[in-house]
Amino acid sequence: MAAKSETNGATAHPVSSKVPAVAHPLAENADEIASNINYHAQFSPHFSPFKFEPEQAYYATAESVRDRLVQQWNETYLHFHKVDPKQTYYLSMEYLQGRALTNAIGNLNIQDAYAGALSKFGHELEEIAEQEKDAALGNGGLGRLASCFLDSMATLNLPAWGYGLRYRYGLFKQRITKEGQEETAEDWIEKFSPWEVVRHDIMFPVRFFGSVEVNPDGSRKWVGGEVVQALAYDVPIPGYKTKNTNSLRLWEAKASAKDFNLFQFNDGQYESAAALHSRAHQICAVLYPGDATENGKLLRLKQQFFLCSASLQDIIIRFKERRHGKESWKWSEFPSKVAVQLNDTHPTLAIPELMRLLLDEEGLGWDEAWDVTTRTIAYTNHTVLPEALEKWSQTVMWKLLPRHMEIIEEIDKRFIALIQATRLDLESKLPSIRILDNNPQKPVVRMANLCVVSAHAVNGVAQLHSDILKSELFADYVSIWPTKFQNKTNGITPRRWLRFCSPELSNIITKWLKTDSWVTNLDLLTGLRQFADNEDLQAEWVSAKMANKQRLVQYILQVTGVSIDPNSLFDIQVKRIHEYKRQLLNILGAIYRYKILKEISPEERKKTTPRTIMIGGKAFATYTNAKRIVRLVNDVGAVVNNDPEVNDYLKVVFVPNYNVSVAEILIPGSELSQHISTAGMEASGTSNMKFALNGCLIIGTLDGANVEIREEIGEENFFLFGATADEVPRLRKERENGLFKPDPQFEEAKQFIRSGVFGSYDYNPLLESLEGNSGYGRGDYFLVGYDFCTYMEAQAKVDEVYRNRKRWAKMSILSTAGSGKFSSDRTISQYAKEIWNIEECRIP
Ligand SMILES: *Cc1c(COP(=O)(O)O)cnc(C)c1O
Repeated sequence: MAAKSETNGATAHPVSSKVPAVAHPLAENADEIASNINYHAQFSPHFSPFKFEPEQAYYATAESVRDRLVQQWNETYLHFHKVDPKQTYYLSMEYLQGRALTNAIGNLNIQDAYAGALSKFGHELEEIAEQEKDAALGNGGLGRLASCFLDSMATLNLPAWGYGLRYRYGLFKQRITKEGQEETAEDWIEKFSPWEVVRHDIMFPVRFFGSVEVNPDGSRKWVGGEVVQALAYDVPIPGYKTKNTNSLRLWEAKASAKDFNLFQFNDGQYESAAALHSRAHQICAVLYPGDATENGKLLRLKQQFFLCSASLQDIIIRFKERRHGKESWKWSEFPSKVAVQLNDTHPTLAIPELMRLLLDEEGLGWDEAWDVTTRTIAYTNHTVLPEALEKWSQTVMWKLLPRHMEIIEEIDKRFIALIQATRLDLESKLPSIRILDNNPQKPVVRMANLCVVSAHAVNGVAQLHSDILKSELFADYVSIWPTKFQNKTNGITPRRWLRFCSPELSNIITKWLKTDSWVTNLDLLTGLRQFADNEDLQAEWVSAKMANKQRLVQYILQVTGVSIDPNSLFDIQVKRIHEYKRQLLNILGAIYRYKILKEISPEERKKTTPRTIMIGGKAFATYTNAKRIVRLVNDVGAVVNNDPEVNDYLKVVFVPNYNVSVAEILIPGSELSQHISTAGMEASGTSNMKFALNGCLIIGTLDGANVEIREEIGEENFFLFGATADEVPRLRKERENGLFKPDPQFEEAKQFIRSGVFGSYDYNPLLESLEGNSGYGRGDYFLVGYDFCTYMEAQAKVDEVYRNRKRWAKMSILSTAGSGKFSSDRTISQYAKEIWNIEECRIP
């Protein structure tokens, strides 16, 4: 390819003159598609003319795909409008959509035609697809779950939409320097996104601050304060091999022209003239703005309310529109047309906001409004970590949302009355189970309690997690409402996470199963079990995995400059950096491995199993220990990878800027992955499912969905270690009381860091957090010291099994074969049946 030309002159990729530029929005074959791409390149211009390098080709290609989606998308909307089925609205502060082009072309099942069309311009589809920036409007698993759910809802032809916020910048872009992680703004729409359509006709006012006015009839109204507009941006969500195309509606905050003070502006007071415009822009500027300051907390609460208020106004308008022409209708029908799912407590304000809209805007009485609200709303819990359970200051809430605080107080009062009337045995528990915590030092609203009291269904995200919710966090509520609590084990979409990210392995599966229906019926993968010992399948399997490993080798070289050996065991841990996820256990294990490799003779080294340990993930910008862990992994890598004595046997690589697209390269090339959280702390995990589906073996604890994965693929195919969830409280006590005798290997590994082998950075604060009885740090709350010994034993087992490549191949096949349960299609079918009560609504 020629160097990029800065002029307008011809480059190596001029738009081909052989391809006519003709609009063909519904093109099916390569020629028409090429014409349509050329049409967009010329007549939907975004760049100066005559340039058609990969970036320009990407935008024109994406627009041509969008043409097709728009048609199906409109048809889907009209069909829903006509049939008027019950519809689900999924409210989430996060979506981790990743790239859309490959997914859309794959779901439309027109990969070959697109590859053919692009070849006419001298481009390859894969290269063009890589031009797209990830839509990274999420942080981790919770956001990716929301995106997998959208894919399944569309594929299952369910009337179900997503609502979220259109963050200008996503979480952040991670760069690695000598000092560890550095964060910069992630500009995912730097130019524009071809996947969003602004709906200039869909806009709702959202109020903040102000006061409550009491009318003569006793009804109340929220007035004053400031009002910003929520403008809708829609993203099409195509289903796999179906015309149904759903929506993800993202709200953007805007101020209107009347809020622009022209007088002040002309007077030279530019900032104050546009003060509301600038405050509106802050709302959707970033995901999870720092909340250490009061301003930060206020902004986060604004974001949450903005999502809830705009979405509910939209839902109510649509409900009313669809009542038109009906003789008469009642508000009590609302829950038979609308289901609202809260993805964690972030959208909890949907509860008092729906109450407010029904009470103050629609004139319902409390009982009727409460009945409608509770039958509409369901809540998914994602964590039992106390620090992650949201509590909002009552002071901040009264200031920002005075009417909602009145409503929350009333819900709280009525809950207390219910307990006092029906469950005197629970009266002593009221201080912890009521919604308001009126501690005079710091009065707060407990969002999870508000959700449990108000929702008709509450679910955990893996069996173990749901059991813990029922027996611990929400135990008292279970005794009040025994049927409210459910489990919905998470899942992942097999389209993105196998069919499209590993076409090689997918083709082998299709060939041996003699069908590709596994893509929508993942249970069919069990059909691979009968061939697990077949040498032909094993050979094909290993060569597909090797091709994926080679692709990963190239990627690692490109982004880190480290060259890794494709014949070594690829051992990967990628997820947000958190002490409970125990990347520290992984790296301490790597350090111990390095120490042993240094101590043994060159002859002995040759008998070891060569390993490449890859760790990736973002540390929250203010989470100091997590950032120290990132730095430690990089420091260890810098030493180990440059040590000629051992670097044929061990490499340690930190993979920068982990996101969905990076995951799509790492996971297909993985052989072992680590899901090693302290038992009881990982609600489910979903990357464990992605890895298992791709034939990667898991080393892990009995935590989250690991428990169910191990059941499905067989305990002999899972490298288990560590304390169990029910042992953890006792072990923490023992550590605190100094009854714990640290494993000598664990002490050696820590000592090795202290000796300065990995540089002069002061790792003592990090290491102190691992000391049980020092009184320092957190007393090894995450039990790294306790689990280290069995972790190292499990790793030794991994080394031994990997030397038997046939056995490993068999286990790898069985891992994929046992992953059927973890399709998000299964999860979403269960939500649809058991919580939402919605049914398929396929366009004819
Ligand atoms: C799946 C996924 C996650 C969730 O990973 P866990 O290991 O389950 O925490 C996080 N980030 C990205 C980019 C993912 O694709």
